Amino acid sequence: MEYEAVIGLETHVQLKTKSKMWCGCANAFGAEPNTNVCPVCLGLPGVLPVPNEEALRLTVLTGYLLNCEIPRFAKFDRKSYFYPDMPKNYQITQYDRPSTANGFVEFEFGDGTTKVHITRAHLEEDVGKSFHFERNSGLDFNRAGVPLMEIVSEPDITSADMAYEYLNALKEILVQGGVSDCDMEKGMVRCDVNVSVRPKGSQELGAKIEIKNMNSFSGVRRALEYEIPRQIEVLKSGGKLVQSTRRWDDVTGITEEMRTKEDAHDYRYFPDPDLMPLAPDDAWLAAVKSRMVELPLARKQRFMRDYSLTKDQAESFKLDVEAGNFFEQAAALVLAKNLSEDWRSRELRGVANSVIQQWRPRLQAKNLSWADTIPGLSSLVGVTIPFVRGEINSGSYQQVVAEMFESGRRDPEAIISEKGLKQVSDTGAIEQFCDEVIAAHPGPAHDFQSGKSAALNFLKGQVMKMSKGKANPALVGEILERKLNA
Ligand code: ADP
Ligand code: MG
Ligand code: ZN
Repeated sequence: MEYEAVIGLETHVQLKTKSKMWCGCANAFGAEPNTNVCPVCLGLPGVLPVPNEEALRLTVLTGYLLNCEIPRFAKFDRKSYFYPDMPKNYQITQYDRPSTANGFVEFEFGDGTTKVHITRAHLEEDVGKSFHFERNSGLDFNRAGVPLMEIVSEPDITSADMAYEYLNALKEILVQGGVSDCDMEKGMVRCDVNVSVRPKGSQELGAKIEIKNMNSFSGVRRALEYEIPRQIEVLKSGGKLVQSTRRWDDVTGITEEMRTKEDAHDYRYFPDPDLMPLAPDDAWLAAVKSRMVELPLARKQRFMRDYSLTKDQAESFKLDVEAGNFFEQAAALVLAKNLSEDWRSRELRGVANSVIQQWRPRLQAKNLSWADTIPGLSSLVGVTIPFVRGEINSGSYQQVVAEMFESGRRDPEAIISEKGLKQVSDTGAIEQFCDEVIAAHPGPAHDFQSGKSAALNFLKGQVMKMSKGKANPALVGEILERKLNA
């Protein structure tokens, strides 16, 4: 019997706000322990939470970015449990009425794109952090009360690789949307992995096994690469799987059981009496919606479609929005020219290469922004088009770009003519060089005529040499071949 995996992910993401969820303490990573704390986030008796409106906005913005519905009613609930790093002994979260529901993430997978449906993205709060020393333990509450969003996926994921790509796509969307920095090193994204297996083709779900608290995407992939075959092996050898929670050990690369369903928590959820329900109105929702950005996948697809860029070129403008915007402005100059389809796409790809390979590294090296880039758009187009058209060679093209960046000049055409970089495309001159070279090298000429096509490169090299590197190489090849075949 063949088995298939069924995977659903619960992804926790810290929101990019200045202050915490219910108090004015800073939402900041790396401060001295217990310096960003107050009676509210320390859970002292009698304090009252005040919701952080930006966190509410970022949650709804996430809903829009993930194609979710935004209910007109949502509320906060208390999830009761005891843990030393959570002094209130309950976590404020959204239980049955979350701020967003029923969305999807679309991303590239395999040869095409695929979708993972989103059950909900709801808002809650992070807890503190425990540190275990040799003889005692310490608690740092700087993280307690940091706004935390939980994004729950439907069990649509079918492999370790698909889980990995989903997480990367989700992260790209959240970073692009300004919702979270998603800095894994700072623990801003953590993930619970739910995985079961079932006979291929079966509609029923197998026993859900949850691997808690993963803090890297590659860890998620490795844990699944271990856990899926383990579960299949259990079933194949006649064993039974029970709903349970497991822990991933990153060092040994295995999962081990922590607890089974019998000792699952009863969280005793109830509406938080300290917090009003949420009823976003049209104006508030519209303001949030206006912060929407183009989704990374849509952007990549648009760059391929509208500018005939290659996959790789479009990929490099997907997340680098400023470079992509700069390219789009330069591309507008090409599009305005009314070229044939072929030349239009050749010029656009050339312009994309100039942005990616010439402009971007130089700006990065000098720590310059795209806005104050000198030389600007028309200079970029001005140096790229002669290169694309074969009027200057690759070395000259790079030389002109370098010259413009060093001197701040914006007149590539003038530099090309001052330095005499234009390739000789005057066929009369090239014809003569070719005749001379063929006459001077009868051996290689004969070789070519008797079928050794590699001999052409030698002859081409001789013509280039004779022209001091200025002959248009494509033209030289054509003329030599014509003459030799005559
Ligand atoms: P809980 O509320 O106990 O955390 P849910 O059933 O709401 O559990 O689901 C939590 C996550 O587990 C979701 O991402 C969901 O898609 C996934 N999931 C649920 N059942 C299964 C299953 N049988 N196999 C794999 N994933 C599952
Ligand atoms: Mg869970
Ligand atoms: Zn506080």
